[in-house]
Amino acid sequence: MDAIARTNSVRTPMTESRTPTPSRKTALAPDVCQLDERAARAWTERMAVRPLGDGRYAVDSQSGATYVVDVPDHSCTCPDNQIRGERCKHLRRVGIEITTRRVPAPGKRAATCAACGVDAFVPEDDEPPLCDACRLEPGDVVRDREAGDRLVVASVTPDRADEVVVEAVGEMVADYATNDGYPRDDLVVEAVYLGDLARSESPRRYSFPRSRLERVDDAEVVGRTLRERVPA
Ligand SMILES: [Zn+2]
Ligand SMILES: [Zn+2]
Repeated sequence: MDAIARTNSVRTPMTESRTPTPSRKTALAPDVCQLDERAARAWTERMAVRPLGDGRYAVDSQSGATYVVDVPDHSCTCPDNQIRGERCKHLRRVGIEITTRRVPAPGKRAATCAACGVDAFVPEDDEPPLCDACRLEPGDVVRDREAGDRLVVASVTPDRADEVVVEAVGEMVADYATNDGYPRDDLVVEAVYLGDLARSESPRRYSFPRSRLERVDDAEVVGRTLRERVPA
């Protein structure tokens, strides 16, 4: 039961893009002879695509001109799109580069994860930038790296561990003995113990430096109804 549920709940973080075992024969590019001219050029012409933010991308075309593609608006500044109203090769090229993960999708930007150091596409406005595996959100099930306990995230605060006092002990989160070794400027995450959540109507929240908590993949095992009982 447990093993099956775990298999179903395995997440594929965007940082793990490799397929472990190639099982099916597949082409990596389309047969351009079968495509219409604009689609074929989008694949084969030499272009450079640079994300500008807000879903806009600069495309340096093979001819030397630079156009701006706006993905949410489905528009491009080139004559083919502006005058003829065609879905031009620049728009198509940006779509290909997003799909093949050469550039971030609208709403994302390329950044180095502040927690684990991998290069990833992260939500455009997130500060500090965190990869999918490191980003925690309310309702996520996490493991305390020190004690091994399972908890559910109640909130990710904007406050740093060296700024927040744990009232019960009168110490900063960062100064708490078991938090030694975690960055002092980690954001503070409030979480409740799974056991408390099952037993109590108003489970107590505890404060942790963000990197002390590791997201685990058994959210479905824990169950939505239980996670929804985490006080907001
Ligand atoms: Zn265009
Ligand atoms: Zn990370």
